Amino acid sequence: MKPTHALNHSDLLQLDQQYCWHPFTQMQTAQAPLPVVRGQGEFLYTANGDRYFDAVSSWWVNLHGHSHPAIAQAIAKQAHALEHVMFAGVTHPPAAQLAQRLVRHAPAPMAKVFYSDNGSTAIEVALKMAFQFWQNKGATPGQRSKLIALQGGYHGDTFGAMAAGQSSGFYDPFKPWLFGVDFIATGTCACTEEQSLAELDQLLLHPQQYAAIILEPLIQGASGMRMMRPTHVAEMCKRAHAAGLLVIFDEVFTAFGRTGTLYAAEQVTQQGGQADIIAVSKGLTGGFMPMAATLTSQAVYDAFLSDQVGQALLHGHSYTANPLGCAAALANLDLFEQGEAFQNMARIADIHAQWMPALATHPLLENPRQCGTVMAFELKSSHTQYGSSVSQWLRQAFLDEGIVVRPLGNTLYWVPPYCTQTDTLQHAYQTLLKVLERWGHLQAPGAGSELF
Ligand code: PMP
Repeated sequence: MKPTHALNHSDLLQLDQQYCWHPFTQMQTAQAPLPVVRGQGEFLYTANGDRYFDAVSSWWVNLHGHSHPAIAQAIAKQAHALEHVMFAGVTHPPAAQLAQRLVRHAPAPMAKVFYSDNGSTAIEVALKMAFQFWQNKGATPGQRSKLIALQGGYHGDTFGAMAAGQSSGFYDPFKPWLFGVDFIATGTCACTEEQSLAELDQLLLHPQQYAAIILEPLIQGASGMRMMRPTHVAEMCKRAHAAGLLVIFDEVFTAFGRTGTLYAAEQVTQQGGQADIIAVSKGLTGGFMPMAATLTSQAVYDAFLSDQVGQALLHGHSYTANPLGCAAALANLDLFEQGEAFQNMARIADIHAQWMPALATHPLLENPRQCGTVMAFELKSSHTQYGSSVSQWLRQAFLDEGIVVRPLGNTLYWVPPYCTQTDTLQHAYQTLLKVLERWGHLQAPGAGSELF
């Protein structure tokens, strides 16, 4: 058998087709996947040597560039010292140091860190913490047992995370198994914030039902980069807290700089809103290792202290606090602390801002918007579903131009790695205009627009 690195383009595709089952993919109709063998900076390279700009940071995980040498070296060094050890009854330096640094960077009142291994498990942990918090405090059956969530939220694909995100419509086959959650309007612009708060107030007339509210602060990612103002998120937090609920921030996507600050929660805190629990993953290791953390306040942690083992959080994963993941995350934080990442984030945000006026007046686009390093808009189309023919057409059109995108229905977005060079991003915007022109021709009467 050939070693993996020796596989050529077509052998790789053939092996993949024979054995792999890809995520979020209808395998019967899917186009062949992009056979990537190498990554460097903001670029991915195929076995043929073709280069692609990773304009979505590989599902939003990559921050400082692919195969960043400092993170790669940190992982290699750690692998030679201690590759893994269980985290029950054992500790190790990278886990302890990372917990300290995550807490130091986080806004108040974060105090403790519980590790897991992906965004969904970080959410699962957050939900279990919230429900058990109230049980440990003596809630009777039926009390503090429900959740409030925002319409269109996406929190992952495990059952608790699906329950909290079921309004996004991704989970139809599993609906019978999802627990009860009450959803409120998100408030993505000043015009709908009032409705969102009115719906929240209505639910909070019976606060004893609810353990917590969960939300993605500032940007709902997977449902289409739906953005919220920090003042609105803060207001929801304040009202939930006044009614005695816990507040959970799902920062799986937003943490580590996407919104312009290390945690999106910082911007909410400036407006007087706080979370009790914050889940992070994706960018935690700079995009190198599957790893997640659920941060909590001292008050949440203290509710699990008891002489009864049953009051402990009886949850864990074999790879909890994996030393290689922790080492990668520490190297990732080093890169933030050295300052260059923040300069790059500001540079990318400036380029997005420069392009906003042109996008705002483009006849084929709607609702161009930006939050930090994230830019998004909708393509005018009646076919808006995830995986629809519009999104497939867009994906292919950009691939033809050497850019990897993954539209959410008719929502197109850039979430570039922070190392993305100015020229690369400017070129991506120019390419966007070119792709839109192609799209415009297809939409013209008699041009086969029924295809979409
Ligand atoms: N929460 C949010 C906000 C997300 O964007 C995602 C993934 N896109 C998740 C949770 C789930 O993370 P994972 O895919 O690592 O399970």
